[in-house]
Amino acid sequence: MGENLASTDAGSPLAIGVDIGGTTIKAAIVGVGGDLLENFCEPSPRSVSALRDFVHSVLKRAKMPLQGIGIGCKGVIDTASSRVKSLPGDLQFLEGQLLSDVVEAGDLTVCAENDARTALIAEVLWGAARGRRNVVLLTLGTGVGGAALVDGVIIRGDGGAAGHLGQVTLDLRGGLCICGNYGCLETHFSSRAIESDYAAHLYRAAPAKLSLDSTGQTPNTEAIFRAAAAGDESARHVLDCAFEYLAAAIVSFLHIFDPEIFILGGNIAAAGPQLLTPIQDKVARRTKIVLGREVPIVFQKATGYGGVAGAAGLVFLKQRLLAI
Ligand SMILES: [Zn+2]
Repeated sequence: MGENLASTDAGSPLAIGVDIGGTTIKAAIVGVGGDLLENFCEPSPRSVSALRDFVHSVLKRAKMPLQGIGIGCKGVIDTASSRVKSLPGDLQFLEGQLLSDVVEAGDLTVCAENDARTALIAEVLWGAARGRRNVVLLTLGTGVGGAALVDGVIIRGDGGAAGHLGQVTLDLRGGLCICGNYGCLETHFSSRAIESDYAAHLYRAAPAKLSLDSTGQTPNTEAIFRAAAAGDESARHVLDCAFEYLAAAIVSFLHIFDPEIFILGGNIAAAGPQLLTPIQDKVARRTKIVLGREVPIVFQKATGYGGVAGAAGLVFLKQRLLAI
C-alpha cells in the first residue's frame, strides 16, 4: 500500500502476512505502514507440510527482526487459539488444526483470523476505510467472503462465524452450496459460479468465443471478463446474470448495515470498471429510499494482497503498534 514511506526505514516494525486462499496462497513481508516489502504467491497447499514449507520459505527471506506472523484463512477461525474450526472444500485438511502449530515458527507470535476480516482490517488500518466506523467488505474470488465493521467493531458473533456474507440466500430454488445451504450468493457470483455457468453454455453449444482447453479445463473468470468485453455473447450473458445477483446482495447488505462505504476485494475485483459500473447503477436505484444517499462502492486498496497486509496487521494490533 506504500503510503507511509517511513515504515520502510531500517528498524521499523515488520511482520509476515499470509493469506491462504482457495486457489493461491500469498504472503508478504509487511511494514507497520502497510507497505508490502516483498511478495510471494504459489498455488494453494494441499497438505499441512506444504503450508509449513511455504511459510518457512518466506521466513528465510525475512532477515530483519519480525514482530510475528499473521495468517488469514478461509472458514471459521478461533482467533484466541488459531484453530481452524470449519473449512469445507479444498482446504479441509486444515480443519481442526492449530495454525500456530502448523507453521512451527518457534517463539514468533502467530495470529490467525478469517481472510475476509484480515482484508477488512487492512482497509481500516491503511486503505479505503481508514478512520471509518461502519464498513462492509466482500471478497470476490473462488468463493465469496465477507466482513463488517459495525460502530467501530469488527463483528465476530457467538461462534466466530458472523459476516459470512457469501452464504446469504438469493435464490430459494438455487443449487446446493459448499456451505450446505441452497442458492447462496456464492453459487451465483464467484469465480467457480461464473466458470461453471460459462461451461454450461459451452456444453449447450451456445454462441461463444472461448472453448475448453486441451485438458477439458473451462476458461477462467479473467478470460470470461475479457471475452465479454470483446463481444462474446455467452460471456456477456453469464456476467450480466452474475452482476444482477451481486447487486441484489449488496442492496441487502446496505440495508442491513448502513455503512459509510462498501468495499469490493478479492481477485475478481481486478476486473475494475467492468464490474463496478453495472453494480453501481443497479444498487443506487434500489437503495435511495431507505438510505437516502448513495453509499460509495469502492475497491480494496491492494487488490489481491489486501488480505496479506491485513494478516500482518493482526500482529501489529496484537503488539499494540496499531489500533482500530
Ligand atoms: Zn453457501
